[in-house]
Amino acid sequence: MQQHVDLQAFNTFGLPARARWFCVVDSVVTLEGALQFARAQTLPVLVLGGGSNVLLREDFPGVVLHMQLRGVQQLADDGDTVRVQAACGENWHDFVSTCLAHGWHGLENLALIPGSVGAAPIQNIGAYGVEAGERIESVQVWNRETASVEWIAAADCGFGYRDSVFKRQYRDSRIILQVVFRLQRSATVNLSYSALAQALAGQEPVTPQAVFDAVCRIRRSRLPDPAQLGNAGSFFKNPVIPAALHRQLQQRFGDMPGHAVAGAEPLVKVPAAWLIERAGWKGRRLGHAGVYEKQALVLVNHGGARAQDVVDLAQAIMADVRQKFGIALEPEVQWVPAQQGLDSRVC
Ligand SMILES: Cc1cc2nc3c(=O)[nH]c(=O)nc-3n(C[C@H](O)[C@H](O)[C@H](O)COP(=O)(O)OP(=O)(O)OC[C@H]3O[C@@H](n4cnc5c(N)ncnc54)[C@H](O)[C@@H]3O)c2cc1C
Repeated sequence: MQQHVDLQAFNTFGLPARARWFCVVDSVVTLEGALQFARAQTLPVLVLGGGSNVLLREDFPGVVLHMQLRGVQQLADDGDTVRVQAACGENWHDFVSTCLAHGWHGLENLALIPGSVGAAPIQNIGAYGVEAGERIESVQVWNRETASVEWIAAADCGFGYRDSVFKRQYRDSRIILQVVFRLQRSATVNLSYSALAQALAGQEPVTPQAVFDAVCRIRRSRLPDPAQLGNAGSFFKNPVIPAALHRQLQQRFGDMPGHAVAGAEPLVKVPAAWLIERAGWKGRRLGHAGVYEKQALVLVNHGGARAQDVVDLAQAIMADVRQKFGIALEPEVQWVPAQQGLDSRVC
């Protein structure tokens, strides 16, 4: 257990914040000990993987658990389907690369997403037409209420668009230890995302390796590298609004894009990047924080930003989008401490 640890290198925004206590968790025994320590002193706990989806708003007064459990193992192989277990502290992109190297297919669309395996189920990471939840079979967690290890089947994880039970009812009670994936030996690829299909047009056959390479290429051309420019990827979720409202808005903003969302009610997902860009924020700066010039969904630290700079910028964008379109943006990035009332809704 270390004290007063600088967290700037542990969040990809590169924001300054300190942890009162900091523990590198490389085993369940260490985890249990750290949680007992926190409980005995009634300290709050923050679970941290790669810090690529958090906005650390201030110094953390409790115990930061830096999840570093390691290991990838094949559990079963029936010749077609392979079950693979990965520990929470494994780097996500390295895990995707390992799978590809072994001929375990299905994760290649999710290449180059920063962060850890343990955080993948939290917001059901997704990119280029695939969500991690589609490939997850079960998740092993530490249940803080019962102080024991338990398994949760994918069907009980409540996976949705950037959402799961781990962001909701299990938010403070379950810590992810291991994730089991069901992957395929067959080389079937998912080209449902049009930019990916276009990038691979004319290639025959399209292999999982080609998809992996194309995804990496596209991501490198569109997104800032956190090592060069601090950021946490998409800062906001794409809002989902009633189809009737979308039609109404299209009468005012003829080019407003939207994709129908399958479900009981007619709903449309609107690209938040379009709303932010259309509101005039793309490339703008507020203090040391700004909106990335190539992708309006990404807020960046131009160097020397403090959390309040990012918060001020995010709130200014949210207020403006709400005023111009009547749509409330919901941050995808996890604010620490949480900010109440930041849910997605139509105003
Ligand atoms: C450049 C860039 C591009 C990105 N692109 C994408 C993308 O395409 N798609 C996408 O979905 N996301 C994307 N992200 C967001 C981010 O990479 C993912 O959300 C990733 O899963 C976060 O992993 P992490 O280990 O860094 O989590 P952290 O930021 O450390 O934590 C995120 C949340 O999960 C919790 N948590 C972390 N580990 C555990 C655990 N073991 N048990 C319980 N809770 C835990 C934390 O408390 C926190 O609430 C991007 C981020 C960046 C910087």
